[in-house]
Amino acid sequence: MLKKVELLAPAGNVEKLEMAFHYGADAVFLGGDMFSLRAGSHNFNNEQLEKSVKYAHELGKKVYVALNIIPHNNEFELLPDYVKFLDKIRVDGVIVADLGVFQIVKENSNLKISISTQSSNTNWRSVKMWKSMGASRVVLAREVSLENIIKIKEKVPDIEIEVFIHGAMCMAISGRCLLSNQMISRDANRGDCAQSCRWNYSLNIEKNEEKEKSFLFNSKDLCTINIIDKILKIGIDSVKIEGRMKGIYYVANVVKVYRDAIDSYDTGAYKFNPQWIKELESTSHRSYSTGFLENIPGPEGMNYVDRNSYSQTHQLVAKVIEKLEDNHYILEVRNRILTGEKLEVINPTFGIKEIVLPKLTLVNKGIESEVEFANPNSIVKIYIDANLEKFDMIRKIY
Ligand code: SF4
Repeated sequence: MLKKVELLAPAGNVEKLEMAFHYGADAVFLGGDMFSLRAGSHNFNNEQLEKSVKYAHELGKKVYVALNIIPHNNEFELLPDYVKFLDKIRVDGVIVADLGVFQIVKENSNLKISISTQSSNTNWRSVKMWKSMGASRVVLAREVSLENIIKIKEKVPDIEIEVFIHGAMCMAISGRCLLSNQMISRDANRGDCAQSCRWNYSLNIEKNEEKEKSFLFNSKDLCTINIIDKILKIGIDSVKIEGRMKGIYYVANVVKVYRDAIDSYDTGAYKFNPQWIKELESTSHRSYSTGFLENIPGPEGMNYVDRNSYSQTHQLVAKVIEKLEDNHYILEVRNRILTGEKLEVINPTFGIKEIVLPKLTLVNKGIESEVEFANPNSIVKIYIDANLEKFDMIRKIY
């Protein structure tokens, strides 16, 4: 029987972890208080981490913790104890980019080690070397083609391979970029990138001034839904969605699309669903490309003309936080909602259903009052003609 691929999602905080699991992720990767990139993603403190690992394991899912900074000499002191803590709370693995960190994890724990994409592994020889040193998994660099992934799997079959399938891409594809560091003293290699590659630049080659501005470093985002069957056919162990800094709508939506695609593939009668593309268009993104998987991207892999090309067709307006009896629910409102408004609910099982919002009951410090609209951060009680679950999202079409 074909081995099932792991769908791995980003979890920038506890809420994103819950949403990722609810919409079908098999595992999440996250950062603890220390030693992780993505400084601004509200990383997990030890207590949250311990609870989250327990929660994941109760669901039969996994948690990987990123320890992927490139540390300097003075940054190792706390690492051995932190590694022991991660081992004790039974995280499913750690993601490491640096050899010194790798050695400390080996010396202080039995944790499985994934080699981070920051280590730029593009060939089977380096994958084999990591295997011989005791790594469990290698997260391949984004610059590797499908053809070369197949070769790596053939040459080194006894190590897990993880591949990026969706998310933002850097102009410096696998990291090690100093643009942000140089321009604004914010270090991308310590999770504090200012995304300087997305700024608007004008070219000035000595006196040959080019007045017209261009987003000359701004790459497109990765999206592989069109070729996901080709990727799955290789027998990769884990497919990864990027985006610990993105919101819950992004995490939930992208996870659900790839979950559906993987489930379709696993039936043995894979059928591409054009709705998947529409769903991936519904969340904020730059133009999509398949990165290096099919071809080495040329200018068509870049967004020269505008900063973002960000397009988004839907907006998250509420989340189910409690299921009451007879299709009544408690919602947490994220964006203003109005009685009579046409909205969509998204459930992991039945998918998308259109609803018309009935009367809302505002719940405020135990007092309930009927209202015509509810503002962000309010809690409302509502009847919805659908069998929803806790964590289901409700969205508005622009
Ligand atoms: S500046 Fe751009 S290319 Fe460099 S690390 Fe940040 S996002 Fe990546």
